[in-house]
Amino acid sequence: MTTSMQPELRTQRQDELVARLQAAGYRLTPQRLALVNLLANDDSHPSADQIFARLRAEYPTISLATVYNTLEVLVELGEALTLDLSEGCTRYDVRRPAAHPHVVCRACGRVSDLEVDGLGAFIAEARAASDFGDLQPRIYFDGICPDCTGPSRRPSGP
Ligand SMILES: [Zn+2]
Ligand SMILES: [Zn+2]
Repeated sequence: MTTSMQPELRTQRQDELVARLQAAGYRLTPQRLALVNLLANDDSHPSADQIFARLRAEYPTISLATVYNTLEVLVELGEALTLDLSEGCTRYDVRRPAAHPHVVCRACGRVSDLEVDGLGAFIAEARAASDFGDLQPRIYFDGICPDCTGPSRRPSGP
């Protein structure tokens, strides 16, 4: 299930990102700061185009290149997780940069975090079983989200 974060934790993530970017010598213009704030609080796993569309209303001078550039810097710093779900675009999770599994809706494309136990052991076993180095887990399941299933078609419990 998706867990929504508390407002004070959101602020903490924003501060964390700003500190990391500044330490890396990245100049934070008001547009970039708005971008970082959006990314720090967004759990919808947006693509660069979606992020750009959301920011453009309030910041008409922001460019798609700025969005890509900032995302690239965050990925390099290990502060953004990329998701390639074969949709022709990359999605980003800046809120939770550590590897974690996702669920993707086959009907509307919505992406949510998936909380499961035993993942750490599974990843450790996979790394031990492979002779490949730097093994990174990219795990997702697809299904139909509650909005697309509709309340009438949802199973009524065990
Ligand atoms: Zn859906
Ligand atoms: Zn995620």
